[in-house]
Amino acid sequence: MSRPTKQTVLVVDDEPLNIQMLSQALTPWYRVKAATSGEDALVVAFSDDPPDLILLDIKMPDVDGYTVCTRLKDHSDTRDIPIIFITGKNAAEDETRGLELGAVDYITKPFSLPIVMARIRNQLLLKIKTDMLEELASIDSLTELSNRRKFDESLDLEWRRSVRNHTKLSIIMIDIDFFKRINDNYGHAAGDICLKMIAETLDLCVRRSSDILARYGGEEFAAIIPNLKHADALALAEKMREDIAALSIPILSHKLNHKATISAGVATISPTLHTLPANLLSKADEQLYEAKEAGRNCVKGLEIDTLSP
Ligand code: GH3
Ligand code: MG
Ligand code: MG
Repeated sequence: MSRPTKQTVLVVDDEPLNIQMLSQALTPWYRVKAATSGEDALVVAFSDDPPDLILLDIKMPDVDGYTVCTRLKDHSDTRDIPIIFITGKNAAEDETRGLELGAVDYITKPFSLPIVMARIRNQLLLKIKTDMLEELASIDSLTELSNRRKFDESLDLEWRRSVRNHTKLSIIMIDIDFFKRINDNYGHAAGDICLKMIAETLDLCVRRSSDILARYGGEEFAAIIPNLKHADALALAEKMREDIAALSIPILSHKLNHKATISAGVATISPTLHTLPANLLSKADEQLYEAKEAGRNCVKGLEIDTLSP
């Protein structure tokens, strides 16, 4: 994952002077965004470029800081953004409430700027470590592709994005043909090398930054392809199939001298609130099964019509 060189801090306060003072101190070190209301803060936090830390005022008209914090902690997309309350509310019960809502720190006004800066720095260093751990937990160690956990998370995210944007979503399920023979003939270590080569080649086919390729299971891969027509998703799967065949990885079986190939199943849908990601997955899986039945080394696909009953 590429990260901007500077971490981003979102300063939320209905008093522009407070924003100005904090922004001035933060700008040499961090990218600073500002919001003067709870609603604006939520928009920035849920955008495609969320902050690494939020400095949150509590007393604001309409949506207050406690509400912003609650909404962010309730949602998986924003749950891990650390929040520091910076507020004039200095009663012990206010601070307790803020910390119980999930804020990492609570600072009362008037504050010492050097202390606030040090606390911000500590939280942002911790955020770097948390992000690194999160990334490590998302990677398959053999192929270095995303793992199944990351795939499932990404599918949920892309599903909701496609519903919002009224765009199509495709899944390509890929399975290596007769992979067991590679293990049987050359050993498990050779099988692993072959898996890595195939993963690298598939990864080269998936060029748009919005596409996600994962190792779905043993010798199965899966790609999430947002915002592409079914015919184009099919063409992408076909390119994958061709590129793997062109690798010419030998598979000796008792009679024949094969090359390693893949079979793929593609399913495309226009996601709605009334359909589920699991539906799309099982359709892609069915198409993969069809490809195997049709003799392997081929691609089968289906566009799901969500308008039909
Ligand atoms: P098909 O064309 O029907 O998909 O046949 P296949 O032999 O590929 O399918 P099968 O499911 O019978 O065998 C999959 C094999 O993949 C069995 C398993 O040992 C092997 N495999 C799964 N994960 C790994 C791995 O991480 N490394 C290695 N070397 N082999 C693996
Ligand atoms: Mg399999
Ligand atoms: Mg297989």
